[in-house]
Amino acid sequence: MKKILVANRGEIALRIMKSAREMNIKTVAVYSDADRNSPHVKYADEAVCLGPPPSNQSYLLGDKIIKVCQDLGVDGIHPGYGFLSENGDFAEAVEKAGITFIGPKAKSMQIMGDKLSAKEAAKAFDIPLVPGTEGAIEDPEKAKAICQEIGFPVLIKASAGGGGKGMRIVEKEEELEEQIHSAISEAKSAFGNGAVFIEKYVASPRHIEVQVLCDKHGNRVHLFERDCSVQRRHQKVVEEAPSAILSGELRAQMGQKAVDVARSCDYEGAGTVEFIMDEDHNFYFMEMNTRLQVEHPVTEMITGIDLVKEQIKVARGEKLSFSQNDLKIEGHAFEVRVYAENARENFMPDIGKLRVYKRPHGPGVRVDDGFEQGMDIPIHYDPMISKLVTYGKNREEARMRMIRACEDYQIVGLTTTLDFGKFVMQHPAFISGDFDTHFVQKHFSPDLLDRQTAGNSEEVAALMAAYLLEKRKQSEVSAAESHGSKRSAWKYNRQ
Ligand code: ADP
Repeated sequence: MKKILVANRGEIALRIMKSAREMNIKTVAVYSDADRNSPHVKYADEAVCLGPPPSNQSYLLGDKIIKVCQDLGVDGIHPGYGFLSENGDFAEAVEKAGITFIGPKAKSMQIMGDKLSAKEAAKAFDIPLVPGTEGAIEDPEKAKAICQEIGFPVLIKASAGGGGKGMRIVEKEEELEEQIHSAISEAKSAFGNGAVFIEKYVASPRHIEVQVLCDKHGNRVHLFERDCSVQRRHQKVVEEAPSAILSGELRAQMGQKAVDVARSCDYEGAGTVEFIMDEDHNFYFMEMNTRLQVEHPVTEMITGIDLVKEQIKVARGEKLSFSQNDLKIEGHAFEVRVYAENARENFMPDIGKLRVYKRPHGPGVRVDDGFEQGMDIPIHYDPMISKLVTYGKNREEARMRMIRACEDYQIVGLTTTLDFGKFVMQHPAFISGDFDTHFVQKHFSPDLLDRQTAGNSEEVAALMAAYLLEKRKQSEVSAAESHGSKRSAWKYNRQ
Protein backbone atom coordinates (compact mmCIF):
# COMPACT_ATOMS: atom_id res chain seq x y z
CA MET A 1 0.00 0.00 0.00
CA LYS A 2 1.65 3.19 -1.22
CA LYS A 3 -1.15 5.74 -1.08
CA ILE A 4 -4.19 6.01 1.21
CA LEU A 5 -7.21 8.26 0.86
CA VAL A 6 -8.84 9.22 4.14
CA ALA A 7 -12.58 9.55 3.54
CA ASN A 8 -13.15 11.76 6.56
CA ARG A 9 -12.40 15.13 8.10
CA GLY A 10 -11.16 16.81 11.27
CA GLU A 11 -9.23 15.14 14.04
CA ILE A 12 -9.68 11.57 12.86
CA ALA A 13 -8.50 12.34 9.32
CA LEU A 14 -5.33 13.93 10.72
CA ARG A 15 -4.78 11.14 13.23
CA ILE A 16 -4.98 8.48 10.47
CA MET A 17 -2.64 10.43 8.19
CA LYS A 18 -0.01 10.65 10.93
CA SER A 19 0.18 6.87 11.27
CA ALA A 20 0.21 6.46 7.47
CA ARG A 21 3.12 8.90 7.21
CA GLU A 22 5.04 6.93 9.85
CA MET A 23 4.55 3.88 7.64
CA ASN A 24 5.88 5.73 4.59
CA ILE A 25 2.47 5.79 2.94
CA LYS A 26 1.34 8.85 0.97
CA THR A 27 -2.00 10.40 1.95
CA VAL A 28 -4.89 11.98 0.07
CA ALA A 29 -7.39 14.22 1.85
CA VAL A 30 -10.93 14.94 0.71
CA TYR A 31 -12.81 17.97 1.94
CA SER A 32 -15.95 20.03 1.63
CA ASP A 33 -16.02 23.78 0.97
CA ALA A 34 -16.44 24.31 4.74
CA ASP A 35 -13.14 22.52 5.46
CA ARG A 36 -11.03 24.10 2.71
CA ASN A 37 -8.52 25.49 5.22
CA SER A 38 -8.55 22.59 7.65
CA PRO A 39 -5.33 21.10 9.00
CA HIS A 40 -6.17 17.67 7.54
CA VAL A 41 -6.21 19.23 4.05
CA LYS A 42 -2.85 20.92 4.57
CA TYR A 43 -1.26 17.85 6.15
CA ALA A 44 -2.09 15.44 3.30
CA ASP A 45 0.21 14.98 0.31
CA GLU A 46 -2.72 15.66 -2.03
CA ALA A 47 -6.22 17.01 -1.43
CA VAL A 48 -9.43 17.04 -3.44
CA CYS A 49 -12.60 19.07 -2.86
CA LEU A 50 -15.76 16.94 -2.89
CA GLY A 51 -18.40 19.68 -2.91
CA PRO A 52 -20.53 21.94 -0.70
CA PRO A 53 -20.63 21.57 3.12
CA PRO A 54 -23.65 19.26 3.66
CA SER A 55 -22.36 15.70 4.14
CA ASN A 56 -24.68 14.28 1.48
CA GLN A 57 -23.04 16.62 -1.05
CA SER A 58 -19.48 15.91 0.08
CA TYR A 59 -18.24 13.32 2.62
CA LEU A 60 -21.03 10.84 1.82
CA LEU A 61 -20.42 10.80 -1.94
CA GLY A 62 -18.96 7.29 -2.15
CA ASP A 63 -18.82 7.11 -5.95
CA LYS A 64 -17.03 10.43 -6.19
CA ILE A 65 -14.51 9.33 -3.57
CA ILE A 66 -13.82 6.10 -5.49
CA LYS A 67 -13.34 8.14 -8.68
CA VAL A 68 -10.79 10.37 -6.89
CA CYS A 69 -8.91 7.22 -5.86
CA GLN A 70 -8.84 5.95 -9.42
CA ASP A 71 -7.63 9.31 -10.76
CA LEU A 72 -4.86 9.62 -8.18
CA GLY A 73 -3.70 6.00 -8.07
CA VAL A 74 -4.84 5.42 -4.49
CA ASP A 75 -4.67 1.82 -3.27
CA GLY A 76 -6.44 2.01 0.10
CA ILE A 77 -9.35 3.94 1.65
CA HIS A 78 -9.56 4.55 5.39
CA PRO A 79 -13.10 5.63 6.30
CA GLY A 80 -12.43 6.84 9.89
CA TYR A 81 -15.64 6.88 11.96
CA GLY A 82 -19.08 8.22 11.02
CA PHE A 83 -19.81 9.13 7.37
CA LEU A 84 -19.19 6.02 5.18
CA SER A 85 -17.36 3.98 7.81
CA GLU A 86 -20.18 1.52 8.49
CA ASN A 87 -21.68 1.44 5.02
CA GLY A 88 -21.35 -2.10 3.67
CA ASP A 89 -22.37 -1.08 0.15
CA PHE A 90 -19.55 1.46 0.04
CA ALA A 91 -17.01 -1.10 1.30
CA GLU A 92 -18.17 -3.48 -1.42
CA ALA A 93 -17.96 -0.82 -4.16
CA VAL A 94 -14.43 0.09 -3.01
CA GLU A 95 -13.26 -3.51 -3.24
CA LYS A 96 -14.98 -3.93 -6.63
CA ALA A 97 -13.01 -0.94 -7.90
CA GLY A 98 -9.82 -2.79 -6.97
CA ILE A 99 -9.08 -0.58 -3.97
CA THR A 100 -8.51 -1.93 -0.44
CA PHE A 101 -11.11 -0.92 2.12
CA ILE A 102 -9.31 -0.50 5.45
CA GLY A 103 -11.96 -2.14 7.58
CA PRO A 104 -13.96 -5.35 7.82
CA LYS A 105 -15.69 -7.13 4.97
CA ALA A 106 -19.07 -5.75 3.88
CA LYS A 107 -20.80 -8.88 5.17
CA SER A 108 -19.52 -8.38 8.76
CA MET A 109 -20.62 -4.74 8.62
CA GLN A 110 -24.07 -5.72 7.44
CA ILE A 111 -24.54 -8.30 10.20
CA MET A 112 -23.38 -5.95 12.96
CA GLY A 113 -24.97 -2.83 11.43
CA ASP A 114 -28.40 -4.03 12.45
CA LYS A 115 -28.90 -4.56 16.18
CA LEU A 116 -31.23 -7.54 15.70
CA SER A 117 -29.05 -9.44 13.25
CA ALA A 118 -26.08 -8.68 15.52
CA LYS A 119 -27.88 -10.31 18.45
CA GLU A 120 -28.85 -13.25 16.26
CA ALA A 121 -25.21 -13.83 15.28
CA ALA A 122 -23.98 -13.42 18.86
CA LYS A 123 -26.59 -15.78 20.28
CA ALA A 124 -25.17 -18.69 18.32
CA PHE A 125 -21.86 -18.11 20.14
CA ASP A 126 -23.38 -18.14 23.60
CA ILE A 127 -22.92 -14.42 24.23
CA PRO A 128 -25.10 -13.02 27.06
CA LEU A 129 -27.88 -10.78 25.71
CA VAL A 130 -30.10 -8.31 27.56
CA PRO A 131 -33.42 -10.09 28.26
CA GLY A 132 -36.12 -8.98 25.84
CA THR A 133 -37.93 -9.83 22.61
CA GLU A 134 -36.03 -12.18 20.29
CA GLY A 135 -36.75 -10.36 17.07
CA ALA A 136 -38.64 -7.34 15.76
CA ILE A 137 -42.01 -6.79 17.46
CA GLU A 138 -44.84 -7.94 15.25
CA ASP A 139 -47.56 -8.52 17.79
CA PRO A 140 -47.82 -5.97 20.65
CA GLU A 141 -49.71 -8.56 22.74
CA LYS A 142 -46.77 -10.97 22.61
CA ALA A 143 -44.44 -8.09 23.43
CA LYS A 144 -46.61 -7.27 26.43
CA ALA A 145 -46.30 -10.82 27.74
CA ILE A 146 -42.51 -10.65 27.46
CA CYS A 147 -42.44 -7.30 29.26
CA GLN A 148 -44.49 -8.76 32.10
CA GLU A 149 -41.95 -11.52 32.37
CA ILE A 150 -38.86 -9.29 32.42
CA GLY A 151 -40.52 -6.44 34.35
CA PHE A 152 -40.85 -2.72 33.69
CA PRO A 153 -39.25 -0.34 32.85
CA VAL A 154 -38.26 -1.60 29.41
CA LEU A 155 -36.48 0.02 26.51
CA ILE A 156 -37.85 0.02 22.95
CA LYS A 157 -34.95 0.20 20.51
CA ALA A 158 -34.85 0.67 16.76
CA SER A 159 -32.87 -2.13 15.14
CA ALA A 160 -31.28 0.33 12.72
CA GLY A 161 -30.79 3.04 15.37
CA GLY A 162 -27.44 4.51 16.36
CA GLY A 163 -25.70 7.44 18.01
CA GLY A 164 -28.04 7.26 21.00
CA LYS A 165 -31.08 7.81 18.76
CA GLY A 166 -34.11 5.56 18.34
CA MET A 167 -34.56 4.52 21.99
CA ARG A 168 -37.46 5.09 24.35
CA ILE A 169 -38.06 4.02 27.91
CA VAL A 170 -41.47 2.60 28.83
CA GLU A 171 -42.21 2.77 32.54
CA LYS A 172 -45.68 1.18 32.66
CA GLU A 173 -47.62 -1.52 30.86
CA GLU A 174 -50.45 0.90 29.98
CA GLU A 175 -48.05 2.94 27.85
CA LEU A 176 -46.53 0.00 26.02
CA GLU A 177 -48.78 -0.40 23.00
CA GLU A 178 -48.90 3.26 22.10
CA GLN A 179 -45.13 3.56 22.53
CA ILE A 180 -44.51 0.56 20.28
CA HIS A 181 -46.60 2.15 17.51
CA SER A 182 -44.86 5.51 17.74
CA ALA A 183 -41.42 3.84 17.96
CA ILE A 184 -42.15 1.91 14.75
CA SER A 185 -43.26 4.98 12.82
CA GLU A 186 -40.34 7.03 14.17
CA ALA A 187 -37.87 4.28 13.18
CA LYS A 188 -39.39 4.11 9.69
CA SER A 189 -38.98 7.82 9.08
CA ALA A 190 -35.60 8.23 10.82
CA PHE A 191 -33.81 5.07 9.64
CA GLY A 192 -35.95 3.78 6.77
CA ASN A 193 -36.48 0.56 8.76
CA GLY A 194 -39.41 0.13 11.15
CA ALA A 195 -38.01 -2.89 13.03
CA VAL A 196 -38.06 -2.25 16.80
CA PHE A 197 -37.47 -4.60 19.71
CA ILE A 198 -37.63 -4.57 23.48
CA GLU A 199 -34.85 -4.89 26.02
CA LYS A 200 -35.01 -4.87 29.77
CA TYR A 201 -34.02 -1.43 30.97
CA VAL A 202 -30.90 -2.10 32.99
CA ALA A 203 -30.92 0.08 36.10
CA SER A 204 -27.61 1.73 37.04
CA PRO A 205 -25.81 0.46 33.94
CA ARG A 206 -22.16 0.82 33.09
CA HIS A 207 -21.19 1.04 29.44
CA ILE A 208 -18.11 -1.13 29.05
CA GLU A 209 -16.74 -1.93 25.62
CA VAL A 210 -13.92 -4.16 24.46
CA GLN A 211 -11.49 -3.38 21.65
CA VAL A 212 -10.84 -6.31 19.35
CA LEU A 213 -8.34 -6.82 16.56
CA CYS A 214 -8.49 -9.64 14.02
CA ASP A 215 -6.38 -10.46 11.00
CA LYS A 216 -7.36 -12.28 7.79
CA HIS A 217 -5.70 -15.49 9.01
CA GLY A 218 -8.03 -16.31 11.88
CA ASN A 219 -5.99 -14.65 14.66
CA ARG A 220 -8.12 -12.64 17.07
CA VAL A 221 -7.19 -10.72 20.21
CA HIS A 222 -8.81 -8.21 22.50
CA LEU A 223 -7.08 -5.08 23.75
CA PHE A 224 -9.01 -4.83 27.02
CA GLU A 225 -11.87 -2.53 27.84
CA ARG A 226 -12.90 1.11 27.87
CA ASP A 227 -15.43 2.40 30.37
CA CYS A 228 -17.68 4.94 28.65
CA SER A 229 -20.33 5.32 31.33
CA VAL A 230 -20.21 9.12 31.57
CA GLN A 231 -22.73 10.08 28.89
CA ARG A 232 -25.19 12.79 27.99
CA ARG A 233 -28.16 11.99 25.69
CA HIS A 234 -26.94 8.34 25.64
CA GLN A 235 -23.72 9.62 24.04
CA LYS A 236 -20.26 9.33 25.51
CA VAL A 237 -18.37 12.35 26.78
CA VAL A 238 -15.68 10.98 29.14
CA GLU A 239 -13.96 7.61 28.73
CA GLU A 240 -11.22 5.66 30.45
CA ALA A 241 -9.14 2.53 30.11
CA PRO A 242 -9.02 0.28 31.95
CA SER A 243 -12.36 0.39 33.77
CA ALA A 244 -12.06 1.18 37.47
CA ILE A 245 -14.32 -1.72 38.43
CA LEU A 246 -13.30 -4.84 36.52
CA SER A 247 -11.47 -7.67 38.22
CA GLY A 248 -8.85 -9.47 36.16
CA GLU A 249 -11.18 -12.45 35.92
CA LEU A 250 -14.13 -10.44 34.63
CA ARG A 251 -11.86 -8.62 32.18
CA ALA A 252 -10.67 -11.93 30.75
CA GLN A 253 -14.27 -13.20 30.51
CA MET A 254 -15.53 -10.10 28.73
CA GLY A 255 -12.50 -10.10 26.46
CA GLN A 256 -13.18 -13.70 25.45
CA LYS A 257 -16.86 -12.96 24.77
CA ALA A 258 -15.87 -9.95 22.66
CA VAL A 259 -13.50 -12.11 20.62
CA ASP A 260 -16.37 -14.59 20.17
CA VAL A 261 -18.63 -11.80 18.89
CA ALA A 262 -15.91 -10.94 16.36
CA ARG A 263 -15.74 -14.60 15.37
CA SER A 264 -19.54 -14.72 14.96
CA CYS A 265 -19.36 -12.29 12.04
CA ASP A 266 -15.99 -13.37 10.67
CA TYR A 267 -14.52 -10.00 11.60
CA GLU A 268 -11.31 -8.52 10.19
CA GLY A 269 -9.52 -5.42 11.47
CA ALA A 270 -10.21 -3.26 14.53
CA GLY A 271 -13.69 -3.29 16.05
CA THR A 272 -15.47 -2.59 19.32
CA VAL A 273 -17.85 -4.88 21.15
CA GLU A 274 -20.14 -2.91 23.47
CA PHE A 275 -21.54 -4.39 26.65
CA ILE A 276 -23.88 -3.04 29.27
CA MET A 277 -23.16 -4.10 32.84
CA ASP A 278 -25.61 -4.13 35.74
CA GLU A 279 -24.99 -3.46 39.43
CA ASP A 280 -24.18 -7.10 40.07
CA HIS A 281 -21.56 -7.03 37.33
CA ASN A 282 -23.62 -9.15 34.93
CA PHE A 283 -22.72 -8.05 31.44
CA TYR A 284 -24.75 -8.22 28.24
CA PHE A 285 -23.81 -7.68 24.59
CA MET A 286 -25.36 -4.51 23.14
CA GLU A 287 -23.78 -4.06 19.73
CA MET A 288 -20.56 -4.10 17.76
CA ASN A 289 -19.10 -1.04 16.06
CA THR A 290 -17.29 -2.16 12.94
CA ARG A 291 -14.80 0.69 12.72
CA LEU A 292 -12.23 2.71 14.62
CA GLN A 293 -13.91 4.27 17.65
CA VAL A 294 -13.68 7.93 18.71
CA GLU A 295 -12.26 6.88 22.08
CA HIS A 296 -9.61 4.50 20.68
CA PRO A 297 -6.67 6.61 22.02
CA VAL A 298 -7.19 5.48 25.64
CA THR A 299 -6.62 1.90 24.50
CA GLU A 300 -3.52 2.95 22.57
CA MET A 301 -2.15 4.63 25.69
CA ILE A 302 -2.47 1.59 27.96
CA THR A 303 -1.36 -1.02 25.42
CA GLY A 304 1.27 0.91 23.46
CA ILE A 305 -0.37 -0.26 20.22
CA ASP A 306 -1.15 2.09 17.34
CA LEU A 307 -4.58 0.89 16.23
CA VAL A 308 -4.50 2.69 12.88
CA LYS A 309 -1.21 1.03 11.94
CA GLU A 310 -2.68 -2.31 12.92
CA GLN A 311 -5.73 -1.64 10.73
CA ILE A 312 -3.50 -0.89 7.77
CA LYS A 313 -1.35 -3.98 8.36
CA VAL A 314 -4.42 -6.22 8.58
CA ALA A 315 -5.81 -4.69 5.37
CA ARG A 316 -2.49 -5.45 3.67
CA GLY A 317 -2.98 -9.09 4.64
CA GLU A 318 -0.31 -9.23 7.36
CA LYS A 319 -0.62 -11.51 10.37
CA LEU A 320 -0.99 -9.93 13.81
CA SER A 321 2.50 -9.59 15.24
CA PHE A 322 1.36 -10.37 18.81
CA SER A 323 -0.85 -12.86 20.60
CA GLN A 324 -3.22 -12.37 23.54
CA ASN A 325 -0.50 -13.31 26.02
CA ASP A 326 1.80 -10.58 24.71
CA LEU A 327 -0.76 -7.89 25.55
CA LYS A 328 -0.62 -6.17 28.92
CA ILE A 329 -2.27 -3.17 30.49
CA GLU A 330 0.25 -0.60 31.56
CA GLY A 331 -0.99 2.49 33.41
CA HIS A 332 -4.28 4.28 33.02
CA ALA A 333 -5.76 6.74 30.50
CA PHE A 334 -8.68 9.16 30.37
CA GLU A 335 -10.30 10.95 27.46
CA VAL A 336 -12.45 14.05 27.67
CA ARG A 337 -14.28 14.87 24.47
CA VAL A 338 -14.00 18.61 24.01
CA TYR A 339 -17.28 19.53 22.36
CA ALA A 340 -18.45 23.01 21.38
CA GLU A 341 -21.35 22.57 23.79
CA ASN A 342 -22.65 24.33 26.82
CA ALA A 343 -23.02 21.97 29.78
CA ARG A 344 -24.91 24.73 31.62
CA GLU A 345 -27.61 24.72 28.92
CA ASN A 346 -28.25 21.00 28.79
CA PHE A 347 -25.20 20.48 26.53
CA MET A 348 -26.63 22.61 23.72
CA PRO A 349 -24.22 22.91 20.78
CA ASP A 350 -22.46 26.27 20.59
CA ILE A 351 -21.12 27.88 17.44
CA GLY A 352 -18.34 30.36 16.99
CA LYS A 353 -14.71 31.03 16.22
CA LEU A 354 -11.69 29.71 18.08
CA ARG A 355 -10.46 33.18 18.93
CA VAL A 356 -7.81 31.78 21.26
CA TYR A 357 -6.78 28.16 20.94
CA LYS A 358 -3.82 26.93 22.99
CA ARG A 359 -3.33 23.22 23.58
CA PRO A 360 -2.05 21.79 26.85
CA HIS A 361 1.36 20.10 26.74
CA GLY A 362 3.61 18.17 29.05
CA PRO A 363 4.11 14.57 30.12
CA GLY A 364 1.26 12.17 29.50
CA VAL A 365 -0.93 14.59 27.54
CA ARG A 366 -2.23 13.85 24.03
CA VAL A 367 -4.52 16.13 22.06
CA ASP A 368 -6.17 14.77 18.91
CA ASP A 369 -7.71 17.71 17.09
CA GLY A 370 -8.34 19.12 13.63
CA PHE A 371 -8.55 22.87 14.18
CA GLU A 372 -6.24 25.85 14.54
CA GLN A 373 -6.67 29.21 16.25
CA GLY A 374 -8.86 31.55 14.19
CA MET A 375 -10.99 28.78 12.64
CA ASP A 376 -14.77 28.53 12.85
CA ILE A 377 -16.33 25.31 14.09
CA PRO A 378 -18.57 24.43 11.12
CA ILE A 379 -22.22 23.89 11.93
CA HIS A 380 -22.59 21.13 9.38
CA TYR A 381 -20.83 18.40 11.34
CA ASP A 382 -20.34 16.94 14.80
CA PRO A 383 -19.43 19.76 17.25
CA MET A 384 -16.35 17.97 18.61
CA ILE A 385 -13.29 20.25 18.70
CA SER A 386 -10.80 17.75 20.05
CA LYS A 387 -10.12 14.78 22.26
CA LEU A 388 -8.03 15.49 25.33
CA VAL A 389 -6.28 12.35 26.51
CA THR A 390 -4.10 11.90 29.57
CA TYR A 391 -2.00 8.96 30.64
CA GLY A 392 -0.51 8.12 34.02
CA LYS A 393 1.17 5.18 35.70
CA ASN A 394 -2.08 4.71 37.64
CA ARG A 395 -5.65 6.08 37.65
CA GLU A 396 -4.84 8.81 40.13
CA GLU A 397 -1.91 10.17 38.16
CA ALA A 398 -3.93 10.17 34.92
CA ARG A 399 -6.83 11.88 36.71
CA MET A 400 -4.72 14.65 38.24
CA ARG A 401 -3.07 15.12 34.86
CA MET A 402 -6.48 15.50 33.21
CA ILE A 403 -7.46 18.20 35.71
CA ARG A 404 -4.20 20.01 35.00
CA ALA A 405 -4.63 19.62 31.23
CA CYS A 406 -8.23 20.91 31.35
CA GLU A 407 -6.93 23.98 33.20
CA ASP A 408 -4.01 24.51 30.78
CA TYR A 409 -6.20 24.19 27.66
CA GLN A 410 -7.17 27.69 26.54
CA ILE A 411 -10.19 28.02 24.28
CA VAL A 412 -11.81 31.43 23.87
CA GLY A 413 -14.65 32.18 21.46
CA LEU A 414 -17.08 29.41 22.27
CA THR A 415 -18.27 27.35 25.19
CA THR A 416 -16.77 23.87 25.51
CA THR A 417 -17.16 20.77 27.66
CA LEU A 418 -13.70 21.29 29.19
CA ASP A 419 -15.08 22.60 32.48
CA PHE A 420 -17.49 19.67 32.59
CA GLY A 421 -14.56 17.29 32.03
CA LYS A 422 -12.76 18.83 35.00
CA PHE A 423 -15.94 18.59 37.08
CA VAL A 424 -16.18 14.84 36.34
CA MET A 425 -12.53 14.28 37.27
CA GLN A 426 -13.06 16.00 40.64
CA HIS A 427 -16.33 14.37 41.58
CA PRO A 428 -16.07 11.85 44.43
CA ALA A 429 -18.38 9.36 42.68
CA PHE A 430 -16.08 9.38 39.68
CA ILE A 431 -12.96 9.25 41.83
CA SER A 432 -14.24 6.21 43.71
CA GLY A 433 -15.37 4.43 40.53
CA ASP A 434 -18.96 4.40 41.82
CA PHE A 435 -20.84 5.83 38.82
CA ASP A 436 -23.08 4.70 35.98
CA THR A 437 -24.59 6.09 32.77
CA HIS A 438 -26.81 8.38 34.87
CA PHE A 439 -23.81 10.29 36.22
CA VAL A 440 -24.94 13.56 34.64
CA GLN A 441 -28.54 13.34 35.90
CA LYS A 442 -27.45 12.22 39.37
CA HIS A 443 -24.45 14.39 40.07
CA PHE A 444 -24.32 17.34 37.73
CA SER A 445 -25.99 20.69 37.88
CA PRO A 446 -24.84 23.96 36.28
CA ASP A 447 -24.47 25.73 39.63
CA LEU A 448 -21.81 23.19 40.64
CA LEU A 449 -19.89 24.18 37.53
CA ASP A 450 -20.19 27.86 38.38
CA ARG A 451 -18.82 27.27 41.85
CA GLN A 452 -15.97 25.24 40.43
CA THR A 453 -15.12 27.92 37.87
CA ALA A 454 -15.20 30.59 40.52
CA GLY A 455 -12.62 28.50 42.32
CA ASN A 456 -14.69 28.44 45.48
CA SER A 457 -13.02 25.33 46.75
CA GLU A 458 -14.58 25.48 50.22
CA GLU A 459 -18.06 25.34 48.76
CA VAL A 460 -17.11 22.49 46.43
CA ALA A 461 -15.53 20.64 49.35
CA ALA A 462 -18.73 21.08 51.37
CA LEU A 463 -20.80 19.65 48.49
CA MET A 464 -18.48 16.74 48.18
CA ALA A 465 -18.66 16.07 51.90
CA ALA A 466 -22.47 16.11 51.65
CA TYR A 467 -22.28 13.63 48.79
CA LEU A 468 -20.08 11.25 50.76
CA LEU A 469 -22.37 11.43 53.78
CA GLU A 470 -25.39 10.65 51.60
CA LYS A 471 -23.51 7.74 50.05
CA ARG A 472 -22.65 6.32 53.47
CA LYS A 473 -26.28 6.52 54.54
CA GLN A 474 -27.35 4.74 51.35
CA SER A 475 -24.86 1.94 51.79
CA GLU A 476 -25.88 1.46 55.42
CA VAL A 477 -29.51 1.15 54.32
CA SER A 478 -28.73 -1.28 51.51
CA ALA A 479 -26.43 -3.34 53.76
CA ALA A 480 -29.26 -3.62 56.26
CA GLU A 481 -31.67 -4.58 53.46
CA SER A 482 -29.50 -7.13 51.73
CA HIS A 483 -28.30 -8.96 54.89
CA GLY A 484 -25.10 -10.00 53.28
CA SER A 485 -26.56 -10.79 49.85
CA LYS A 486 -23.93 -11.19 47.18
CA ARG A 487 -24.57 -7.70 45.76
CA SER A 488 -21.37 -5.87 46.51
CA ALA A 489 -20.54 -2.19 46.47
CA TRP A 490 -18.57 -0.92 43.48
CA LYS A 491 -14.98 -1.69 44.02
CA TYR A 492 -12.16 0.40 42.74
CA ASN A 493 -9.81 -2.12 41.26
CA ARG A 494 -6.34 -0.64 41.39
CA GLN A 495 -4.09 -1.64 38.54
P1 ADP B 1 -26.51 3.42 19.93
O1 ADP B 1 -26.30 2.45 18.82
O2 ADP B 1 -27.55 4.44 19.62
O3 ADP B 1 -25.24 4.00 20.48
P2 ADP B 1 -26.61 1.51 22.12
O4 ADP B 1 -27.41 0.27 22.04
O5 ADP B 1 -25.11 1.37 21.93
O6 ADP B 1 -27.20 2.57 21.10
O7 ADP B 1 -26.87 2.24 23.52
C1 ADP B 1 -26.39 3.54 23.80
C2 ADP B 1 -26.51 3.83 25.29
O8 ADP B 1 -27.88 3.70 25.73
C3 ADP B 1 -25.73 2.88 26.19
O9 ADP B 1 -24.40 3.25 26.33
C4 ADP B 1 -26.51 2.99 27.49
O10 ADP B 1 -26.17 4.17 28.16
C5 ADP B 1 -27.96 3.13 27.02
N1 ADP B 1 -28.62 1.79 26.94
C6 ADP B 1 -28.69 0.97 25.87
N2 ADP B 1 -29.36 -0.17 26.15
C7 ADP B 1 -29.75 -0.08 27.44
C8 ADP B 1 -30.50 -0.94 28.32
N3 ADP B 1 -30.99 -2.12 27.92
N4 ADP B 1 -30.71 -0.51 29.59
C9 ADP B 1 -30.24 0.70 30.00
N5 ADP B 1 -29.54 1.55 29.22
C10 ADP B 1 -29.29 1.18 27.95
